[in-house]
Amino acid sequence: MTQFVPVTTCHDCGLLQKISHMPEDGTVTCCRCDATLRKRQRIKPAKSIEHTLALVITALILLVISNVFPILQIQAEGHEMAATLFGCVKYLFTHKMQFLAGLVFLTTIGAPLIQLTGLLYILLPVNFGRISPYAPQVYRLVRIITSWSMLEVLMLGILVSVVKLSALATVVPSIALWTFGLLMFLIAAILNDLDTEMLWEQITPKTQAVEEQKSKPGTQLTNCHNCNLLCAVIAGHESFCPRCKTALHFRKPNSLTRCTALAIAASVLYIPANLLPVMVVRSMGQTEGDTIISGVIYLAKTGDMPLAIILFIASICVPTVKLLILFLLLITVYFKSPWRLRERTRLYRLTEGIGRWSMVDIFVDTLMAALIQIQGLMVIEVGVGAVAFGAVVVLTMLAAKAFDPRLIWDNMERVNE
Ligand SMILES: [Zn+2]
Ligand SMILES: [Zn+2]
Repeated sequence: MTQFVPVTTCHDCGLLQKISHMPEDGTVTCCRCDATLRKRQRIKPAKSIEHTLALVITALILLVISNVFPILQIQAEGHEMAATLFGCVKYLFTHKMQFLAGLVFLTTIGAPLIQLTGLLYILLPVNFGRISPYAPQVYRLVRIITSWSMLEVLMLGILVSVVKLSALATVVPSIALWTFGLLMFLIAAILNDLDTEMLWEQITPKTQAVEEQKSKPGTQLTNCHNCNLLCAVIAGHESFCPRCKTALHFRKPNSLTRCTALAIAASVLYIPANLLPVMVVRSMGQTEGDTIISGVIYLAKTGDMPLAIILFIASICVPTVKLLILFLLLITVYFKSPWRLRERTRLYRLTEGIGRWSMVDIFVDTLMAALIQIQGLMVIEVGVGAVAFGAVVVLTMLAAKAFDPRLIWDNMERVNE
């Protein structure tokens, strides 16, 4: 039977609270900020590992198929072209866009591969009652890399590309398109199935965190930000989570400074990202550059309104809103404002969730460029604006990770004292 930690601190507001009742089928939320403290999956724990393991193996097979076969094939003016995902990465790499190549590789191939092989390495022995060497460290890596796996965003990018390409050529969806679709649902099912708390208990059965330390003077209780174990930290002393070996901090170190620096860097790069072309089309001796906004306007004018709205939201609204929210949070925390604490925490959770969707534009530009290479007729290239835009996406994601939402509530506690 799964045990649960009856005392926990909230990862979003820092409140120490006791979970007095754990619903068998439900979710426990923070009594102060509504953050999810504990989520239990629906399947019975004994069956869960076997079930998740089957999903992981299937997903790995699908990932291999998705990378071996082309995603899309196009036919235009007697030419036939096909693009695999790895071909897209190779295209970027050979066209001196190593940063974008690395980013596309990490978010679509590297992260899902590490995530799935890591889970296989941990779950396979657990299924037979054993623990693989370094299992906690591997699971820690899996949890870090999960936020960089963006298959659902890639799927949206592929669908947008199909619509855009069908104006230029005959588009034939290939086998990898369907396997990517399936893979996306499988990974979502795996993450939903996995009872992380239970798995941590199984791979680190002898961990004692709080008991041995809490009697020492000057200790503060906090949950490990990676494995969520309640640990005691002593101010000014470096300590590590006994379960996953992550460095423990009562609050993220230099959170405000790091977040401000990253948000400013993202804002500066946001200017070239919008002014420079993200896609360059060379056709019949003419060269035309498309910026993010001109691409959206073109789609709206040619009657693809739903697509124009999707791209407008993902590429223009999301980064702008995210930067505005980050600055709002930074300024209000800096001035120790007691204004709307719960709503500001919700805004923080929103910035964490939406940022990845801006990658859609990068995936569309890369796919179009990798496919349309008809020398002498039409060649599409990824513009330098896309590099700046990719950097904006990465920097805003890092800024959101650097921000510690508990700082919002710390000020209130000080006001009340
Ligand atoms: Zn909370
Ligand atoms: Zn930990």
